[in-house]
Amino acid sequence: MTRVLITGITGMVGSHLAEFLLKDQKGVEIFGVKRWRSSLANITQIKDQINLIDCDLTDASGCIGLVETVKPDYVFHLAAQSYVPDSWKNPNTTLIGNLQMQLNLFEAIRHAKIDPKIQVALSSEEYGRVYPDELPINEDNHLRPLSPYAVSKVAQDMLAYQYHESYGMKIVRTRAFNHEGPRRGEVFVTSNFAKQIAEIELGLKLPVIHVGNLNAQRDWMDVRDVVRAYWMAINQCKPGEIYVIASGKSRTIREMLDYLLSQTKTKIEVKVDPARLRPSDVEILRGDPTKFKQTTGWTEEYSFEQMMGDLLDYWRDRLKSKEPDHVSI
Ligand code: NDP
Repeated sequence: MTRVLITGITGMVGSHLAEFLLKDQKGVEIFGVKRWRSSLANITQIKDQINLIDCDLTDASGCIGLVETVKPDYVFHLAAQSYVPDSWKNPNTTLIGNLQMQLNLFEAIRHAKIDPKIQVALSSEEYGRVYPDELPINEDNHLRPLSPYAVSKVAQDMLAYQYHESYGMKIVRTRAFNHEGPRRGEVFVTSNFAKQIAEIELGLKLPVIHVGNLNAQRDWMDVRDVVRAYWMAINQCKPGEIYVIASGKSRTIREMLDYLLSQTKTKIEVKVDPARLRPSDVEILRGDPTKFKQTTGWTEEYSFEQMMGDLLDYWRDRLKSKEPDHVSI
């Protein structure tokens, strides 16, 4: 059996990755890291088929115990404080925490004297300020991060490079553009709009949707395509190298909202909420996945419309089941 360690298994990406491996890959045993207080809502459907281990990855000795116990063949390092606005409120937790988790994990792997294949989940946010003549963004674009979160991902990226160069660790560095779908955290813009619409449909909220900057452009993919890409990356990509994972298309946040609004029969007013505007927003992200596609043969299977439709249905189902912590009038 191939022993696969997934950090961040309780999050959106980790839960989909575990589901994908259970469904599509034979001979894989999954070990997922959770914290003692982690919500298991995203993994209830698979929790009997995986091994869950409690570990806060900011705890170095906890990481040593985790890696000694699992002795993984593959490591997907997804755990992070992943929400950009929170990184302005708590820059220390995001910047130091995200780097520290990865450092602890790498050091625990060295300590255990094992040589697993490792994938680290880096981000298009690392590119930050991008000028129109620099689009689409590929592996060679400048990194001009615009948030503490983005800086944390640049730091994780550089640490991964250094550990590969210094110790020969088999680390693949993937810079993924935005990915969405069922179980996306409700603070993220796609999920937030979808949830507000579902709440309005159910009469849980007045028919007004609150929005921030609608002009920013994003390159969106379905999380189910991205976890398949991560599996291909860890198996087929060259350790030490960077790979951009993107759709190659960008849409404004306004277009995304308009699509969601076209999927409801309820009349909804759109209102700008200044509290939702960020200090320095990344205006446009559009990636160039040529290198990754040529290396792995990856292509997307989910359309933008299916991804957004499934996200809206996820909130409709979730709110209908009346989980009180998900109603936000
Ligand atoms: P989520 O916020 O949904 O999940 C984050 C996960 O990290 C949760 O399981 C969380 O556990 C775990 N975690 C956070 N801190 C710790 C800690 N100290 N110890 C152990 N576990 C911890 O993020 P996503 O699933 O969306 O993203 C996965 C990764 O991909 C992240 O690294 C993110 O930065 C990166 N990424 C995501 C993109 C996207 O569009 N989704 C784009 C590019 C990169 P808990 O449940 O306890 O909070």
